[in-house]
Amino acid sequence: MKIKTSLLPKGFTAKAERLAEKFRDELNVHHCGHLCAFRLANHLKVSICEASDYGIEPEWLERLTGWSGLYMVNQFSEKIIIHNTNHTLGRQQSTIMHELAHLVCKHPLPEDIILPELPFLRRYNPQHEQEAEYLGATLQMTRKGLVWAMRRSMTVAQIADYYKASHEMVDYRLNITGVSKQFKNFGSV
Ligand SMILES: [Zn+2]
Repeated sequence: MKIKTSLLPKGFTAKAERLAEKFRDELNVHHCGHLCAFRLANHLKVSICEASDYGIEPEWLERLTGWSGLYMVNQFSEKIIIHNTNHTLGRQQSTIMHELAHLVCKHPLPEDIILPELPFLRRYNPQHEQEAEYLGATLQMTRKGLVWAMRRSMTVAQIADYYKASHEMVDYRLNITGVSKQFKNFGSV
């Protein structure tokens, strides 16, 4: 799993950790605990819908685009995330966290929808995309949570299970936060 970080503004990674901890505080979740994406969506007053609610077959959409989800605001100013329920639960969690991250970062919704009748395909500002990827992953697992898990000698599979995340996402977070390196060095001393 490779998430680019080259366009992240200075200080963004620390800000992401602060936000992930702030939302945990608001929802009475320990800074190291699992924060459910559906619960955070509810907290942020975002409705979660399935593509099939819109009469669209997710299989067809995915074949076409590899589509996983999108955030939109409808004509009644309701905030909605539509996501692909065919994906594993771990991927659904990260898709929803990613879309919530766009909202938390106040990214303007892109206007260049490619197919007007099907608002599933659109281009994002690449910097906003990197911010949503990074913040979404941090919302799933805080750095403190990863340190806690490593101190308990949890395996990647156990961490993934605890945080309802994919193994790839756990590996990614352990690497990008430097936690895996920290514990490798610790182990070799
Ligand atoms: Zn995005």
